[in-house]
Amino acid sequence: MFFTLKKTDAKTKARLGVIRTFHGEIESPFFMPVGTRATVRTLSSEDLHQIGASIELSNTYHLYVRPGLDIIENAGGLHKFMNWNKPILTDSGGFQVFSLTKLRKITDDGVRFQSHVDGKQLFLSPEVVMHIQKVLGSDMVMPLDECAPYPSEKVAAAAAVKRTTDWAIRSKEAFIKTKMREAGQFNFGIIQGATYKHLREQSAREIINVGFDGYAIGGVSVGEPVKDMFETLDWVMPMMPGDSPRYFMGIGMPDQIVKAVGMGIDMFDTVLPTRYGRYGTAFTSVGRVNIHNGEFAKDLSPVDANCDCITCRNYTRSYIRHLFNVDEILGLRLLAYHNVHFYIKLMGRIREAIAQDRYAVFQHEFLSQYQSELLGDEHAKTV
Ligand SMILES: [Zn+2]
Repeated sequence: MFFTLKKTDAKTKARLGVIRTFHGEIESPFFMPVGTRATVRTLSSEDLHQIGASIELSNTYHLYVRPGLDIIENAGGLHKFMNWNKPILTDSGGFQVFSLTKLRKITDDGVRFQSHVDGKQLFLSPEVVMHIQKVLGSDMVMPLDECAPYPSEKVAAAAAVKRTTDWAIRSKEAFIKTKMREAGQFNFGIIQGATYKHLREQSAREIINVGFDGYAIGGVSVGEPVKDMFETLDWVMPMMPGDSPRYFMGIGMPDQIVKAVGMGIDMFDTVLPTRYGRYGTAFTSVGRVNIHNGEFAKDLSPVDANCDCITCRNYTRSYIRHLFNVDEILGLRLLAYHNVHFYIKLMGRIREAIAQDRYAVFQHEFLSQYQSELLGDEHAKTV
């Protein structure tokens, strides 16, 4: 059994479950630290174990471009290459192909494009993307999809939905034909449809009909207002099978995660903890704090008084601010460590609240204490 639903919260739609893979179990809802290029920026696998991460996410497109499949195959797969022995989910790379590359040509067959690194001509099709993920050895694999940009005309969004369904069918066929299940891999379908209700519903119906181990809601957090993002959940969540995990791709801010869990989402990923860390921003129990701020120059308190991570137990705001001011790498690392820890611990508190049937209270308390933004984030998905 890939996914087991353990319980649903008494008053909300929040769910507690467990995913079982060859590389271990993951309690849901969970957050996946993003290691786009086989590393979560400045953090080692040992750090991630210490923080308590139970899964990591990498990106098919980026790894295909660099270092290339032969190098990862030579290492015996992605787990061995990056020394990570817990589960890995890989993005298909569809989003990156559509957002990063130039001169791309999309046909029903696949997408031909120039590498964003060296301009080399590359081609991805649903079958190629499955093959890459087979070589990577990811525990959870995503199909190639077409992510319509925001805003999208209805006609273009409808065409992307049709192509996403056609490609989902071919991905599943390739998954079966190349015996990826036998190799211990599980596959996800991605629901598209931009900001159109009937297209989201159509996509959900078609993708669920193809049949996957789990379902992802894609094409969100691409610049649309946050209320539209959550409206998408209002439309598709009632259609989702109860016995499969649900993944809200590329979401999001801590308060957005808390809200989406209450609507029945199980899986999250976002580059925000490491990206914001890079700019000196820490996620804390009361909201975001920017360490560059002059008021912290002589502040000998930890980044977050309510955090017990290595950074907060051992280093002061004053010191970390100094590291940022003189561009020392340790500053980045200390904040990345704290931020990823913040997300992982948040998910632990979320699971505990669901287990005790008090998610509604938790959600209310979190949102009133956290300097709630429920804002859109233009950076959220541009990896
Ligand atoms: Zn901390």
